[in-house]
Amino acid sequence: MDDIDIMRRAMAQARQGDRKPGANGIGCVIVRNGEILAEGFNEVDLRHDPTAHAEMVTIRRACEKLGASDLRDATLYSTLQPCGMCSMASIWAKVRRIVYGAERHQVHEMYFENKHFNTTDFITDAFKDDISLVGGVLGAECAKLYVGPDEDVPEAERVNT
Ligand SMILES: [Zn+2]
Repeated sequence: MDDIDIMRRAMAQARQGDRKPGANGIGCVIVRNGEILAEGFNEVDLRHDPTAHAEMVTIRRACEKLGASDLRDATLYSTLQPCGMCSMASIWAKVRRIVYGAERHQVHEMYFENKHFNTTDFITDAFKDDISLVGGVLGAECAKLYVGPDEDVPEAERVNT
């Protein structure tokens, strides 16, 4: 299993989330030593939990499975560039790599609260060299899961408002 194979699994999670009422089309997979520890999708509205982003759901699931609060050396895959909360949670979970698909500029601005710079840039800049971030893995394919940067989205249909 390489990054591409696993990103395809994350995309399958995203599609599953997209079909499930109250869930959302962002998918995540956590892998360590070739073993899939957990998979998940965004469950914010399903759980009435603003922190239930795909990455948080999957980190919790992986930790529960291992009975541990440490995912040392694991890689977290996400279909969309992770937000600040999920990037930081990955650091606390000792995730070694974050690999994401669609980058911020490939999707509609409504998905991101950031103004001038990306939290992933901050993470890369601000923290010791113990986590690496790789974006754009199947980026164009992952971007198709989301509203495009130039599409017109009525106010009522926007996420993150
Ligand atoms: Zn997030």
